[in-house]
Amino acid sequence: MANYAYKDNQRKEIIYSTQAIEEDRSTAFYCPNPKCNAQLYICAIDGSKTAYFRATKRKYPHVSNCPFGNSAIEFDKTQFDESNFDYDKAIGLLFAPTSTDKTSKKSGVPGIGELQNHPPRTIRQIYSMCKSFPVNAKYGNKEIGEMILDDRSEYRYPRGCFGNKIIEAVVKDRLYDNDKRCIYLSAPMDSKKYSFVLDFSDDETYKIIRGEIYNNRDKVIIVAGQWESLGKYNSFISKINRREQVAVLKKR
Ligand SMILES: [Zn+2]
Repeated sequence: MANYAYKDNQRKEIIYSTQAIEEDRSTAFYCPNPKCNAQLYICAIDGSKTAYFRATKRKYPHVSNCPFGNSAIEFDKTQFDESNFDYDKAIGLLFAPTSTDKTSKKSGVPGIGELQNHPPRTIRQIYSMCKSFPVNAKYGNKEIGEMILDDRSEYRYPRGCFGNKIIEAVVKDRLYDNDKRCIYLSAPMDSKKYSFVLDFSDDETYKIIRGEIYNNRDKVIIVAGQWESLGKYNSFISKINRREQVAVLKKR
C-alpha cells in the first residue's frame, strides 16, 4: 500500500493519496518502486479515513517483495510530530546502550493523560515514513533520499553508503559468520550493488537477529547503521549494538 504514486510510467508526476479524488478511482497509477510494474488504484480502507494506492488488478500486481505492496509501510503522518524530528538523533538513539535509552524513554514517552505526538523513532516508524514520501521530499528538513538507501534512492549513492543510513536490504549469498559475529546483506534490493556487514557487539543480539533474518531470508531486511567503508570495493560495515537497529518486513 502506497501513500503516493505516479501518474506516468516515467514517474515524473507524483500524486499523493490525499490528493486523489473520487473520480480518480478508475485511473491506474504507477508504483513508487521504479522496479515494479504494478498498476495502482486509489482505495479507502474500511474504517479508516485514509486512502491508499493498492494494486487491485490481478494482471498488474506488485513484484515480489515490493515494499509498496506491504501494509507494514503504512505511515499516518498526522500521528507524528515532524517538527521535532532529528534524523541523526533518532538513529543515534537506536544505537544507544540500554541505560541511555531508558532515560530518553522517560523524557520522550508522554505520561498518562498526555496525547502529544512524538517524532518517528523506531526503525519501523522511520522506515515507513521514508517510504511514504518520494526521495526528493523532505521530512524534518532532511531529504528522504539522505535517510534511506533503496531502489528509489540508489542514484544518489554513486560512491557508496556512508554515515547514518537506513538500508533496505536482502540476503544475497552467505548470510552469517559465527566466528566474526557478523551478518552479511546486500542493498538496494534490485541491484544488490553494495555489500553490508552487520558487526555485532554482543552474542545475544547477534543470535536473535541471525535467527530472525535466517527465518525470513526471502524477505526485506531493514537496518539502521552508521556505515563506513570496509576497505573493500562497494562494501560497508556498521556496528549493531541493539535489536532495535534491525527489522524484517513481513507480509501483512
Ligand atoms: Zn510495487
